[in-house]
Amino acid sequence: MVADGAAPPIEKPCGEGMMPETLAALRALGVEISPGEGQKFRGICFVQEDARVFADFPQGQGIGLRRRLLHERLVARAEECGVQLLWKTPVSGIDAESVQLSCGKVHARWIIGTDGQGSRVRRWSGLEAAKRSTQRHATRRHYRVKPWSNYVEIYWGSHAQAYVTPIGGEEVCIVIMSEWAEHASFDRALRELPELKEQLAGAELSSRERGAVTSTHLLHNVQRRNVALVGDASGSVDAITGEGLRLAFRQAFALGDSLVVSDLRHYEQVHRELARRPMLMGNLMLWLGRNPRIRGRVIRALQSKPDLFARLLATHVGHGTSAELLSTGALLGWRLLAV
Ligand SMILES: Cc1cc2nc3c(=O)[nH]c(=O)nc-3n(C[C@H](O)[C@H](O)[C@H](O)COP(=O)(O)OP(=O)(O)OC[C@H]3O[C@@H](n4cnc5c(N)ncnc54)[C@H](O)[C@@H]3O)c2cc1C
Repeated sequence: MVADGAAPPIEKPCGEGMMPETLAALRALGVEISPGEGQKFRGICFVQEDARVFADFPQGQGIGLRRRLLHERLVARAEECGVQLLWKTPVSGIDAESVQLSCGKVHARWIIGTDGQGSRVRRWSGLEAAKRSTQRHATRRHYRVKPWSNYVEIYWGSHAQAYVTPIGGEEVCIVIMSEWAEHASFDRALRELPELKEQLAGAELSSRERGAVTSTHLLHNVQRRNVALVGDASGSVDAITGEGLRLAFRQAFALGDSLVVSDLRHYEQVHRELARRPMLMGNLMLWLGRNPRIRGRVIRALQSKPDLFARLLATHVGHGTSAELLSTGALLGWRLLAV
């Protein structure tokens, strides 16, 4: 049984980009997104002033898709699997063997907190303690404009980054992210990013602007007694990684396996392993965001050796070992000395 305080289709401020691995996880859940439903993209592009560097995914393509469409597809699949879905039903408390809903108490052998970043289930179950927690500000807009690139573009400005995802034949989703609230506004960020401003000249907004907080949040524990946390409730990586949805889907599989053997410690172990790589890449991206001079040199180094960027992207999407990441890092260091 799923109880959600909202009603479908649920809109959430998001970059709306799903990388090939996210799509593979969705497929395994039984949800197939056909390319016609969203907009395909072939990799990632970094843009800083006059420098631009591209990398294709090692396998497959990503898809940008409006969040409400993704939600509709997930709801349809859950119904097909026989899940009882209760909408406009906020959860107001839990105890050892039940969950308090607005319509009464429901007995529950297992209680799974999937209530997002500000999870109350996390607080009620004593899982709030974090090893690390940082936050940035974000603003999301949709523009009615033909996507000008078949890559997800990340524009790097002095105080903010913009993440552009093609999501339809005539629509793009843009998220501005910054450590400072005032720099996460479109007006301010576009002043720092003239190339992006030019692409958007004359384009109409196709949705209401939404603000959000994106956090890097690593918990000590994601399970206790009969309670487990999944998705952003269980910790999160910065939005710039584009990894939130994949993590949530993969965690759900691991939790399913653990419930079969009634052992949530196994879930916790897999959860930790799943978080490691996105955390590492997220930290690297945040560090680049804070260090403009080094970032400029890194982007120029990658531009002069694009296969290095492709190797970094391959590692980011899970196609590489730690040894390969180390050797890519060493090669990048070598290039940095040369530029
Ligand atoms: C700005 C931004 C951009 C992002 N871009 C990307 C991207 O491009 N690609 C990507 O993969 N990820 C991206 N992410 C991350 C991604 O959006 C999240 O990881 C993902 O939405 C997490 O899903 P979730 O189900 O855990 O939480 P949520 O999507 O937040 O869902 C939580 C649900 O819990 C319900 N709820 C909350 N409290 C209660 C309660 N007390 N009772 C009942 N129901 C409750 C809410 O109504 C909601 O439906 C981005 C995040 C941000 C902030």
